[in-house]
Amino acid sequence: MNSRKEFIKKISLISAGTVFTNAISKAHFLLENSKNILFKIPEFTLEPLPYAYNALEPYIDKQTIEIHYQKHHKAYVNNLNKAVTEINYNKSLYNLFNEIDNLPIAIRNNAGGHYNHTLYWKLMKPNGGGVPKGKLAEAINTNFNSFDDFKKQFAQSALNRFGSGWVWLVKTTENKLKITNTANQDNPLMNLAEIGIKGNPILALDVWEHAYYLKHQNRRADYINSWWNVVNWQTAEELYLF
Ligand code: MN
Repeated sequence: MNSRKEFIKKISLISAGTVFTNAISKAHFLLENSKNILFKIPEFTLEPLPYAYNALEPYIDKQTIEIHYQKHHKAYVNNLNKAVTEINYNKSLYNLFNEIDNLPIAIRNNAGGHYNHTLYWKLMKPNGGGVPKGKLAEAINTNFNSFDDFKKQFAQSALNRFGSGWVWLVKTTENKLKITNTANQDNPLMNLAEIGIKGNPILALDVWEHAYYLKHQNRRADYINSWWNVVNWQTAEELYLF
C-alpha cells in the first residue's frame, strides 16, 4: 500500500515537471510564432463556396462546380502561395495587380486565377438571373442602350475570346461601363499593356472549357445562355456602387 502511495507521488511529481517544461516550450513557441506573424508572407486562402455544389443546377451542374472549385480554384490558391513565398512578396492582391508587369508569370497566372474565381462564385447564386435593378440597371441602359443590347454584346465578347479567358463588365475610372475580355487568368485590374480596358470588375464570366465542358461540351453559347439564369445582380450592384 505504501509503495503504491510512493509510486503515485512519484508519478505526480514527474507530471508536474512535465507540465512545467511544456509551459516553457509553449511560451517559447508563442514567441517564435509571433515573430512569424510579423515577418511571414500572408497566406491566400480558398474562401468557402457561398452555396452547395448542386445549388446552380440545372444551369451549372454539380460535378462541374465541384471540380472547378475544389481542384482548379484550390490549385490557383496553392500555387499563388508558393509563387509569392519564392520571391518573398507580401503585398495585397490589389498592389500585386498594380505591379504585375514586374512579377513572375506564375504570380500573374495564379493571382488572377484566385481573384477571378472568387468573384465568379460570388457573382452567381441559386435562383439568380432576372434583370439588374437600381443604379446598375440605369448605368447599363445609359451605356448599352438596353439590357437586351448589353446581354447581346456581353455574349458576343464571350464568343470572340479565342481559347481560354474571361469576359468582364468593367467600371472604368471615368465611371463608364464597358465590356471586355481577357486571355488566360488576366483581369481588368492588371497593369499590363495588353489589358485594353482597365477598371473594376462588375461581372466576371469564366469561359475556360473547364467551366462548362462536362455539361455543354464545346457549346460555349449554351453555357453563356445558362449562366444568365444564375447571375447574382445584387452582388454586381454592390461592386458597381463600391
Ligand atoms: Mn475556371
